[in-house]
Amino acid sequence: MEKMEPVEIIDTHCHLDLEHFHDDLDGILGRSREGGVTDFVIPGFIASGWHGILKLCTGRPCLHPALGLHPIYLDRHQPGDLAELQHLIRRQTPVAIGEIGLDFQGGMENYNSQLKLFQQQLDIAAEEDLPVLLHVRKAHDQVLAALRRSHFSKGGIVHAFNGSRQQADCYMEFGFKFGYGGTLTYDRARRIRKLSAELPLDSIVLETDAPDIPLAGRRGYANSPEYLVEILGVLASLRSESEEEIAAQTTINARNILDL
Ligand SMILES: [Zn+2]
Repeated sequence: MEKMEPVEIIDTHCHLDLEHFHDDLDGILGRSREGGVTDFVIPGFIASGWHGILKLCTGRPCLHPALGLHPIYLDRHQPGDLAELQHLIRRQTPVAIGEIGLDFQGGMENYNSQLKLFQQQLDIAAEEDLPVLLHVRKAHDQVLAALRRSHFSKGGIVHAFNGSRQQADCYMEFGFKFGYGGTLTYDRARRIRKLSAELPLDSIVLETDAPDIPLAGRRGYANSPEYLVEILGVLASLRSESEEEIAAQTTINARNILDL
């Protein structure tokens, strides 16, 4: 029997800068590598966290920073944050602006401020020629409308994608890939599982969103890039391609879109 090549996969969304991972980061990176994870993208969500992310990535070429202002933390963003974002992008080398987007899960009362912040960051992404990592909840149509109005055309990743096939097709026209992670491991996530099986493989990337979204069967435990290989296994069980094919293509997708 032919020996199986070890897979190489990329965690395109994990918050390894959070305190949760401080004590055992090198252990986690080591165990993740044993599971085939070669690269880790660490998205920013608030300006006070950016320097920590950049510091963590310094001297660790497998870690890739992204910097952005998350819609959920609207109240904590400061007037000077966008200028600081642009300044840091020019001095450091983030792979993307993110995570940014719109989140109306808790209602739409701050619609205008969320939209303004999102559009401003899309403008920066267009100006700096960087892709974006999108966080979108109950707001895909509004995000797509903002993309249509903007000059931004670099694409990126819709993280934890939970939209419809029609919305997916619109995102693809803008050059977006779809991040699939721990949610796939839940049988009850039927709509997300179905779409993950139907979308073209060249539009999919893997992610854990660690420490969030614990895997089914690991509830109560924080998520970690160590488990990305389990997400790969679930995706392979839902699709027609083999684990090896999915690993290879999603890795190519992530490298292409983020220029890793
Ligand atoms: Zn995240």
